[in-house]
Amino acid sequence: MTEHTLYHADIHTPVRQTYLVTGGAGFIGSHLVEMLLQQGHRVLVIDDLSTGLLENIVHLRQHPNFHFARASITNELVLDRLTSEADIVIHLAAAVGVKLIVENPVRTIETNIMGTEAVLRAAVRYGARVLVASTSEVYGKGTRIPFREDDDVVLGPTSRNRWGYAASKMLDEFLALAYYREQNLPVVLFRLFNTVGPRQRGQYGMVIPRFVQQALAGEPLTVYDDGEQSRCFLHVTDAVRAILALAERDEAIGQVFNIGATEEITIRGLAERVLAEVDTFYAAHPERSAPPRPAERLRFVSYAEAYHTPDFEDMRQRVPDISKIYQHTGWHPERSLKDILCSVVQHMAG
Ligand code: UDP
Repeated sequence: MTEHTLYHADIHTPVRQTYLVTGGAGFIGSHLVEMLLQQGHRVLVIDDLSTGLLENIVHLRQHPNFHFARASITNELVLDRLTSEADIVIHLAAAVGVKLIVENPVRTIETNIMGTEAVLRAAVRYGARVLVASTSEVYGKGTRIPFREDDDVVLGPTSRNRWGYAASKMLDEFLALAYYREQNLPVVLFRLFNTVGPRQRGQYGMVIPRFVQQALAGEPLTVYDDGEQSRCFLHVTDAVRAILALAERDEAIGQVFNIGATEEITIRGLAERVLAEVDTFYAAHPERSAPPRPAERLRFVSYAEAYHTPDFEDMRQRVPDISKIYQHTGWHPERSLKDILCSVVQHMAG
């Protein structure tokens, strides 16, 4: 396979808009692509498969409105050609996952900054609208809950890798807004809070796939620190609906929006819910033999052990204020944590 293999199909069906999705073979990207195709759009995907997977999109390859380019977003030629055909670019390609970020800071910072710069430059050449994915990490150590889009930001010191991710995404936001103000590029920024669902993988650190995988394997769930830190988990299909609600709304241009769930749970509470959901799964599938139960179902692990660094900093609490996106689009999450856990368990149990 060459570095940028293009899968083409003739286009016979009338289409509504052409979307370019960077990172379209990733967890969120692949769900987004599916929904865009369902809505009758033409979808171009650029993904270097560094964390994305061909298997996430392989079922779409025959779709007449779907094109896939295996290339990095820093490959100017490919990016230019695809952007020239796009009405709207949704920029999801990024280095994500706390474990990946802590272990590969150079890759994180370079991918996030150089990649976004390349996408914005290409969009300016063709006047495409760009939606740039940002992250709740930019709220850093903020303690005013819930987080609002115009809150002040408090990050930790540069000696701690984790903050490099937040800073790289903040720079992406500054750059996108600068293109909007100086060059009239229509940009929309959205900050995703913990998004989960089928196809997310635990290897980059995300807690729900890790817990589900551990529970299905009959291993203790690794709860970091005291497990009293809390998060709100959003189902990926809700996240995708939110992104698409923003995509074609003119009044969203030049603005930043939180996208997240508001049902808060501690990580220890989450571990208990995962165990209960896996038990329910095996009770409903007597033909599947449940793994033996470990002596202790939860294992508390220090951050130092988990991230192989003595000075890891975590956020104790993270809850979005989602009134802004609701006011602009009427969007709110529809799927509960129960739905999320059920869909992830079903998916991972195969
Ligand atoms: N976490 C955990 N065990 C794991 C992985 C993560 O206890 O095996 C914790 C992590 O310390 C954090 C929370 O779960 O407090 C959510 O982690 P994740 O990496 O999914 O997202 P984050 O909110 O940190 O971006």
